Amino acid sequence: MKDEKPHSLDRRQFISSSALVAAGLLLTQSACEKKESDSTVNEASFKGPLVVSTWAPNVKANAAAWKVLEAGGSALDAVEQGVYIPEADPEDSSVGLGGLPDRDGKVTLDACIMDHNGNCGAVLALENILHPISVARMVMEKTAHVMLAGAGALKFALENGFEAVDLLTPESEKAWKEWLEDSEYDPSITPEKIMQRIKESHDTIGMLAIDKNSDISGACSTSGMAFKLAGRVGDSPIIGAGLFVDNEVGAATGTGVGEEVVRICGAHTIVEQMRMGKSPADACKEAIRRIIQHNGDKAQRLQVGFIAINKDGEIGAYSTLPEFSYAVQQSGKEPEVFKSDSWFDKWPED
Ligand code: ASP
Repeated sequence: MKDEKPHSLDRRQFISSSALVAAGLLLTQSACEKKESDSTVNEASFKGPLVVSTWAPNVKANAAAWKVLEAGGSALDAVEQGVYIPEADPEDSSVGLGGLPDRDGKVTLDACIMDHNGNCGAVLALENILHPISVARMVMEKTAHVMLAGAGALKFALENGFEAVDLLTPESEKAWKEWLEDSEYDPSITPEKIMQRIKESHDTIGMLAIDKNSDISGACSTSGMAFKLAGRVGDSPIIGAGLFVDNEVGAATGTGVGEEVVRICGAHTIVEQMRMGKSPADACKEAIRRIIQHNGDKAQRLQVGFIAINKDGEIGAYSTLPEFSYAVQQSGKEPEVFKSDSWFDKWPED
């Protein structure tokens, strides 16, 4: 892995989001022109901490994870605490509270978590629980299983002290009612309104962290594709698709049209590509290449974005379409946000 091309910031553009500017988090163009060595840590025994999340607004989630990591906490605790931020944010319409509902108006959440020992847990189509990531962790730690779904997952959560809450906010209910007016639904593409939302803001959180012991954990949480068929589950809670961690190699997670990620076992594919020597960025690109290959022209309407880290602390990302962003926090640096390189250089209607 040492002789592979490291994560290259100079091919990336920094995000120009007004929210980030306001938060003082926008990095300048000159900062963008750093040498590769500035952005990567190439020592064979990389010691964390490091945390990387899908989507620029998740700098806030990274900050929460960072508190845990800085205090010497585990990567597992860090990713759980980090994911809490968008899960509890009513303005985040793709994760947890305020997540856009399915076509029947129900908010159903998918989440998974994986630690450095290969332990993992997941919940699928879970309703009425604010922090599905913690239920996923409890599945991992308290049961002999990996996944609990639907009513069974809710029963398990309630029996284990989680409170039932209403996750449908007035805003997401309004968006659903507007959607009902024409009910456009084609799961094989990213619907127009959803594309707009993805372009403008953000989506599923996938978070990867390395702690001071060099141990890696990851977490992924989503309300899934907006206005999905009742019962539809995407990639996000599927270990190997939406998230995979191998403490010897690295970790990967993703966002976007989950069906496509499942078809190529996205996160596992990326980790295996890194095992065979690819850099995180090149491994993500290979996964995207497979999605492009499967989909032909249709791929131009499919947004999928991956992020990955390896054991050397290198970071990579790649997406089908532009506007996929990711947030990074690492020792000795301010929080950073980047635009990922993408296969296509513009969206179909641009
Ligand atoms: N990957 C998620 C899913 O397919 C949704 C998304 O990231 O847009 O459920």
